[in-house]
Amino acid sequence: MQCGTLLIHNDHETEPLSGALGVPIIQSSTFQQRDLSRSQEYDYARSGNPTRKALEEIIARLEQGARGYAFGSGIAAISSVLGIFSTGDHIIAAEDIYGGSWRILNTFYKRWGLEMTTVNATDPDEIRRALKPNTKALFLETPSNPLLKITDLRVCLAIAREAGLISIVDNTFMTPYLQRPLELGADIVVHSATKFLGGHSDVLSGLAVTKTEALGSRVYAVQNGFGAIPGPWDTWLVIRGIKTLKVRLDAQEATARKLSAWLDAHERVEQVFYPGLAGHPGREINEAQASGAGAVLSFKTKTREQALGFLSKITLAATAVSLGGVETIASYPVKMSHAAIPMAERERLGITDTLIRISVGLEDPEDLIVDFARALETP
Ligand SMILES: *Cc1c(COP(=O)(O)O)cnc(C)c1O
Repeated sequence: MQCGTLLIHNDHETEPLSGALGVPIIQSSTFQQRDLSRSQEYDYARSGNPTRKALEEIIARLEQGARGYAFGSGIAAISSVLGIFSTGDHIIAAEDIYGGSWRILNTFYKRWGLEMTTVNATDPDEIRRALKPNTKALFLETPSNPLLKITDLRVCLAIAREAGLISIVDNTFMTPYLQRPLELGADIVVHSATKFLGGHSDVLSGLAVTKTEALGSRVYAVQNGFGAIPGPWDTWLVIRGIKTLKVRLDAQEATARKLSAWLDAHERVEQVFYPGLAGHPGREINEAQASGAGAVLSFKTKTREQALGFLSKITLAATAVSLGGVETIASYPVKMSHAAIPMAERERLGITDTLIRISVGLEDPEDLIVDFARALETP
């Protein structure tokens, strides 16, 4: 079956007892243990809950992995996956991974003795050069945020496999509908389900999928032991969001393509970053590993005043952090997601005070273009 069908038909479309079309919300912390001589599937809800189990099976199937795990946020998923490593292990991470992932590695896990080297993963040789005898993992994210750089997953994941590393890919921007890293050679996929999977800016959630049962058991030990799990209501919202992922992303991507082409031709726009745009340096690699370019783009205006004017004048986009919802969201990385990065380092990465990131929503593209045109004329 194709991914669009799997979003709907996934062994959890009907509840067997009542025939209800949907997964029930089992709001219970504990489960009666009828026969103490046997272990049963559910005993305490940190260890397992039927609503959560449904989401975990749905995402495992969508990503074509052996096991899926749900968490209370994307960062809870990422932190828990990193929890399978030990003091003295070394991890290679792309330099432009999500800021929160970088922060947990550079603070919490650093204190616990997990070593990190960051590399520009668009150059696979940098990964080869960063390998050390104690390197245990490679952590990638593509497209990157906020400059939408593309990492060649097949090439980088092959390097990881050859070196015996566990490879982890943050697939939040693409979702399994557009990109399936496990099929390209990854060992673990992580998600902020807060974004496109949930899709409605109303829930925080995170997911992890492992390629093998053995890796799944290691992640499960952290999920159960560390306890960064989601509640059943939040889990249910993600299950519901996933059902419409295909139509949302198809429409959002179509609008992102129109908007990026329109922005590219605008006299006040210096540069547009979108993997679906002709001239994007990673376009061909993205097309070879993903079935779309997604619905996030960014652009630079010619001056800082134009960027600030745009953000103050747009009416059809919220000026906010986050992405992947049904409403268009404009964010200003230097003051939001990347505010913690020292200015010199930010400039080196190309994250300037003229850069705006757009998560394209479900509004009509013509209306967005009219609104953007007016906002770009300010001041
Ligand atoms: C938002 C995001 C995260 C973190 O997820 P939360 O749900 O906010 O904890 C991780 N990775 C990427 C790529 C994200 O966009």
